[in-house]
Amino acid sequence: MSATLPILDSDSTPPVAYAPGPLAKPGILDVPADTLRAWLGERGQPPMRVNQIRRQVLASRTTTFEAMSDLPKQLRAELAEAFSVLSMRVEKHLFAKDDTHKLVLRLNDDRMIEAVLIQDDGRATACISTQVGCGMGCVFCASGLNGVVRNLTTGEMLEQLVMLRNLTDATSTNPDRALRLTNVVVMGMGEPLANLESLLEALAIAGDKNGLGIGARHVTISTVGLPAKIRKLAESGKQYSLAVSLHAPNDELRTRIVPTNDKTGLDAILASADEFYEKTGRQVTYEYVVLGGLNDLPQHAKQLAGLLVGRKAHVNLIPWNDVEGLPYNRPQDADLQYLIDTLRKSGVSVKVRKRKGSEIDAACGQLRRKVEMSVAAPAASLPTVEV
Ligand code: SAH
Repeated sequence: MSATLPILDSDSTPPVAYAPGPLAKPGILDVPADTLRAWLGERGQPPMRVNQIRRQVLASRTTTFEAMSDLPKQLRAELAEAFSVLSMRVEKHLFAKDDTHKLVLRLNDDRMIEAVLIQDDGRATACISTQVGCGMGCVFCASGLNGVVRNLTTGEMLEQLVMLRNLTDATSTNPDRALRLTNVVVMGMGEPLANLESLLEALAIAGDKNGLGIGARHVTISTVGLPAKIRKLAESGKQYSLAVSLHAPNDELRTRIVPTNDKTGLDAILASADEFYEKTGRQVTYEYVVLGGLNDLPQHAKQLAGLLVGRKAHVNLIPWNDVEGLPYNRPQDADLQYLIDTLRKSGVSVKVRKRKGSEIDAACGQLRRKVEMSVAAPAASLPTVEV
């Protein structure tokens, strides 16, 4: 559990220079369009400037107001006085050998979240957070250990995408061939469906051709399973993919692992996911974090197959990523294989999720915890980030 990592810490040179300094002003992506329109109006500027400014940040990758050459000089100065292009600061930037990058981001109120860039098979995928912390309390997960603090704003979710997209350019050895950020998985910290309205707004702006051009079919939203919100997502008429975190094939075990199951129950979750498929035509993915000796016994494999057979479903098995201090185990290879074989024999499509960036604590919430602990510690005993 303790290896020297190809990571960035105080001793290594980051691939991107981050400005230190005081916390930023309000992020421009967080100013609602009508507020910004009014602000511009007071300065004699037409409403179309709103889209111009957003396009600069989202599509043109402009990182300072000064460089927004299609805006009058005076306006650029006034914008810089009042707002920042990006409000979040990079507290820590780590990268793994497999080209996975993780940012720990400090928000304007000093809270911290994580965002991850996965570069694989010629494509770049952003994994974003939707809340500070998480209120769902899944027993094996680092994000929810201290509960939920607050929802992220639309702008804070968009900023994560912009920062990760900018990172594809900055870290590419050949800028002409930087991977395009084409995919988003909403699988970072937090429960996305508990912050659905702001998330949908962020994804709509990200999907616009003047935004980041990330199409709905390239976005996957992962949920603990909130039936009413799954229906709401289906009714939005968007082609987002849905991933449901199942983690157990019966209510008794699921309630032990995923406490919110006590209120929802498996039946209602599966029924809402079926409805999602009927309304959108999008196959639902079921995520199953495999906890050695807890939810990977032969009877679990059979029950899981029984639950999903005949459903338009795909299963992602995710061997548990260790979280310091939690009493769970990764599965034995033979038990994982038994799960795979049992599902396949029943005709249920299944994959084991590859471990990406495991040496940089890419599983949600893990790194933020360590950074928060290190920030809180007296300077003399700052721990280095090691796994
Ligand atoms: N709240 C959403 C998003 C959470 S993160 C949800 O529950 O789906 C995305 C996935 O990572 C979830 O399936 C979550 O259960 C899983 N996960 C969290 N911590 C993990 C860990 N330590 N190891 C493996 N998977 C983990």
